[in-house]
Amino acid sequence: MSDDNTTNLPSHQDIEKDISEYLSKKYGDRVKIIGFHAQPELEIDSTISTDSPVEKKIPYIEFNIKPEELCAYLDEYVICQDEAKAILSTKTCTHFNRIRNAIENPLQAKRTVGQIKNNVLLIGPTGVGKTFLIKLIAKRLGVPFIKGDATKFSETGYVGGDVEDLVRDLVRETGDDIESAQYGIIYIDEIDKIASARNVIGADVSRSGVQRALLKPMEETEVDLKVSHDPISQIEAIEHYRATGKRQRRMINTKDILFIMSGAFTELEDIIKKRTQKQAIGFEGDIASKKKSGRYLKHVKAEDLIAYGFESEFIGRLPVIACLEELTVDDLYNILMNPNSAVVVGKKLDFLAYGIRIQFSDEALMEIARKAAQEQTGARGLVSCMEKTLLPFEKKLPSTNIKYLAVTQELVKNPRQELARILSDNDHLALHEDQYHRLFQEERVRIKELIVQKRGEFLEEHGVALTPERMSIMAKQCQDEVLDIRDACDIFIDYVKHIKKCEKNISAKCGIHVTFSDEAIDRILERQPLNQEVIKSLCETLGTTFEYGLGLLEQKKGVDHVVIPGAGIDRPEQYISDLVRDFFQT
Ligand code: ADP
Repeated sequence: MSDDNTTNLPSHQDIEKDISEYLSKKYGDRVKIIGFHAQPELEIDSTISTDSPVEKKIPYIEFNIKPEELCAYLDEYVICQDEAKAILSTKTCTHFNRIRNAIENPLQAKRTVGQIKNNVLLIGPTGVGKTFLIKLIAKRLGVPFIKGDATKFSETGYVGGDVEDLVRDLVRETGDDIESAQYGIIYIDEIDKIASARNVIGADVSRSGVQRALLKPMEETEVDLKVSHDPISQIEAIEHYRATGKRQRRMINTKDILFIMSGAFTELEDIIKKRTQKQAIGFEGDIASKKKSGRYLKHVKAEDLIAYGFESEFIGRLPVIACLEELTVDDLYNILMNPNSAVVVGKKLDFLAYGIRIQFSDEALMEIARKAAQEQTGARGLVSCMEKTLLPFEKKLPSTNIKYLAVTQELVKNPRQELARILSDNDHLALHEDQYHRLFQEERVRIKELIVQKRGEFLEEHGVALTPERMSIMAKQCQDEVLDIRDACDIFIDYVKHIKKCEKNISAKCGIHVTFSDEAIDRILERQPLNQEVIKSLCETLGTTFEYGLGLLEQKKGVDHVVIPGAGIDRPEQYISDLVRDFFQT
């Protein structure tokens, strides 16, 4: 395979010619290229080695994750689409665990049978969470992700190059880290647009050409990171040659890159319907009884996709198919009600940029969901609806003294009238502020419930007991900083770990084993503002305050362990002098 690619590389004369043309276009005759006359030795990028265990290679990629864990993560953000979540979490976990297994057991990597990649085809209308799911998966696993559009391939007519450009883009996305890019995810949308047109007699050459260009990268191929038509990479090549006397070849193998394709496949249902009508009555009856459109899609088979206009080799490389459902008004409402909702969080942050805090009532969110459903663009309609509704407020309020806004049903129905009323009627404004504070408290209760339900176990796994005080601290931080619950919990765990580290420092300083009680830890975590620097300097001050007294207890009374109570944080001098006095009095 590498031989093939060697011959595909441009010759040094080609490179020289391209660069000369580029430079003379840019600088005229003032700049000339002095040719290099010997064919330099090839230097293959040696960063890719498959001998060492996977964790050592790329410690930040989660190759060990289990499907249930990934699915639970997706549940925190994505409403409905249970089947797609189950399929995607299982198959991506399997993909990455197989890579891990192959790296840890080099014998597995040499297998010739059973090496089918878990590339996925996602079928579903626009705005139902296809891209969102893949982005979340890539984020959770720590792998790079890139999204491309299949229609771009057919338009340029430069078929092979474009597909490989996507692989290069993935490397660029990682800041040129080939090591992690080779485990990335390439997501190609609008794949249904490269199906051959069914009304054309004979093969639709350009579209089936794009399908064929995708076959190799989807399975395994070496992609050269330099391209002859890109002057920048050619200049880099020359620079490298000048510096080292060697020609550098940087390749990436696509064997472990996961390809996910998606599309709306609007006419696919009819094809499935026709096929099933020819088949058993019972089966057809079973589907027909379900009214919601899209029900037939669940029964999609390879033959339907071939009838749609795909080559069988192409479909053969997409062994996993997941269908996503249209979102109803209730689903859209549930998306907005999720405290992790990107739409609501995003809008709160827009206002917070001006120091204005907003809260949405449930009825307002339902009204937005209803309006969005009419746009028929799935959850995308939520964003445009939210923008349309709140734009007059986002324009006007930053120039006023208003710092709190309750987004009510009335406001969503008649934004302009409501804005005029808030600006002109002080009583109405006061009502709004009251409502904001009520909604804020209601949201806090909801966040606490979600911390217990979804993150409780996780926190306990990290040795963080879930006391009511701690839930309040986390929920407050979620709201104050407009954080998603997972991030707030992760930050909280980091704080607790940091306090434990400080415990060790105080112990070393005082020459005695010091631990903070849960109550003391809570007192530290209640400090405002809270960050690692604040915790560190507070603990340093505590260490200095306790040093003399604890030293005395250790030397004179043989005390080897002290548990600091909450009072030790609130009034450290008082606490330590009381403690020493108590010991010396007994
Ligand atoms: P598409 O299916 O066209 O790829 P996206 O995944 O890009 O749509 O959805 C657009 C946005 O809508 C997402 O970024 C996300 O905020 C929101 N969204 C879409 N579907 C869901 C869903 N099922 N649950 C929660 N949010 C969703």
